[in-house]
Amino acid sequence: EAPRKSWLDKLRQGLRKTGSSIAQVFTGTRIDDALYEELEAALLMADAGVKATEYLLEDLKRRVKEAKATDPTAVRGMLVVSLTELLRPLEKGLAVGEHTPTVMMVVGVNGAGKTTSIGKLTRHLADADQKVLLAAADTFRAAAREQLSVWADRTRVEIVSQEGGDPSAVTFDAVTAGRARGCDVVIADTAGRLPTQLHLMEELKKIKRVIGKAQADAPHQVLLVVDGNTGQNALSQVKAFDDALGLTGLIVTKLDGTAKGGVLAAIARERAIPVYFIGVGEKLEDLQTFNAREFAQALLE
Ligand code: GDP
Repeated sequence: EAPRKSWLDKLRQGLRKTGSSIAQVFTGTRIDDALYEELEAALLMADAGVKATEYLLEDLKRRVKEAKATDPTAVRGMLVVSLTELLRPLEKGLAVGEHTPTVMMVVGVNGAGKTTSIGKLTRHLADADQKVLLAAADTFRAAAREQLSVWADRTRVEIVSQEGGDPSAVTFDAVTAGRARGCDVVIADTAGRLPTQLHLMEELKKIKRVIGKAQADAPHQVLLVVDGNTGQNALSQVKAFDDALGLTGLIVTKLDGTAKGGVLAAIARERAIPVYFIGVGEKLEDLQTFNAREFAQALLE
């Protein structure tokens, strides 16, 4: 129980910047237009985006009317319920064990926390007795390969890496090796230049195609790592990568220090792709499964 509490504290501390300003809206004595206007501004400030904000306000007003609420504190409780229900579709566990190996391709722009998240995910899987193989498909950046090797050593898993090779060839080799060695999971780390650079998406599409050649029906997961601290930018990335690759899941990092945590509401409203994990720090135990209710409470209380 203890570690769980500490990560929730980190999440709360991060979201408090936003949370306190949203919670602030409900400290008055009246439920009036001014309250809803303040709430709208606070949700937009938290990067919930126009669509999710409009949706939440309407849903909340309906609940308030139905319950004939008169106390702003009760209204805040209703907002927790509205937000929880909005976020619920994002709540989903990452399934492994249906394929041998389960092949995961991890994408995201540089600095989002991709390599760190892969390291944490690897530990999570290794702890669950899964045999993991890492593929360093970012063949251009030596630092990316080195960083991934450090994680491979730390978590005692094998890695397929090749300096300056073709990213899709390295991935093909890794998936083939994973099958031959009876691995449970193969995780491919990919390059992360800006998503606006067409070339990156083409390279990633090629990797995806080639994975399918090494193992029919793979990749089983195409995971995007996004920095939660970039707010609406994170939503743009979700859309761009999903349009190009068809994402199966998200890892939202850096929620331990952000005033923009409302972006999860925007993602839920505009591109409801499961959030398998959230990152609340740089340590191994800081990768946590996403829970809609806990998140809504951390954001609003
Ligand atoms: P990549 O370029 O996407 O592979 O990003 P890295 O994995 O190298 O991470 C970039 C930086 O973000 C590193 O300093 C990480 O320690 C840090 N980082 C990653 N995830 C989190 C997180 O959830 N919270 C915080 N505070 N920092 C993180």
